Amino acid sequence: MSSILEGRPALKKEVEKIAEVAGYLWQNGWAERNGGNITVNITDLVDDEIKALPAISEVKQIGTALPALKGCYFFCKGTGKRMRDLARWPMDNGSIIRILDDCASYVIIADNPVMPTSELPSHLSVHARLIEKGSNYKATVHTHPIELIAMSHNKAFMGKDVLSNLLWSMIPETKAFCPLGLGIVPYQLPGSLKLAEETLKELEEYDVVMWEKHGVFAKGLDVMDAFDQIDVLSKSAKIYIDSKCMGFEPDGMSQEEMAEMTKAFNLPR
Ligand SMILES: [Zn+2]
Repeated sequence: MSSILEGRPALKKEVEKIAEVAGYLWQNGWAERNGGNITVNITDLVDDEIKALPAISEVKQIGTALPALKGCYFFCKGTGKRMRDLARWPMDNGSIIRILDDCASYVIIADNPVMPTSELPSHLSVHARLIEKGSNYKATVHTHPIELIAMSHNKAFMGKDVLSNLLWSMIPETKAFCPLGLGIVPYQLPGSLKLAEETLKELEEYDVVMWEKHGVFAKGLDVMDAFDQIDVLSKSAKIYIDSKCMGFEPDGMSQEEMAEMTKAFNLPR
């Protein structure tokens, strides 16, 4: 069977990037079983021929109406699919969907009728909000980074920007490459409307948010950008934990040293 990616190098490259990141999530131990989700807005890479492709699924309801998504196309990880499989066979473990004109339903158009993630409504709500804001962010990633989740089991870390400051202070790069810090969403039932609402709210201020005792949700220019921000935060968490394992509380960079960085690198915070 031919693939929608054939003869479309830009789209192929984007899907290969998704597969590459899916592999990193698995290798990092952040994606047990079917854990985690990736959705990418690929509308800019869609040509007239793709727009004319017939649906290969029935019409499916999103569960909410998102007018900002009119005419949009997304690559979505499939429900129940594993990141380690997505890494090797992206078009068998994810699919491309077209949002229909009512902005409340969609169809799958390629390559296989793989049903998108059950978290689709919350991911699409974030994409709709990004479009409304005129953002050029195209990707959302949800994953389970071990050390960051472990830190979220400590109530003392769950105050506003407590973890942002702690993680920034572990190594300069984290402040440089995750300059908005880490937002916090208190524990909510996975897949719930409440979790989606709280995430949407926190993403107004942050690119990466911690779901207490569950994982992180990140947005980025592309899937690699979203992954990189989670990766630098996770690196800091590991440095903190290694220091504690060696029996001491890490000093961390001082507030003055971090303020100096904000100025030198022209960071937003
Ligand atoms: Zn999860």
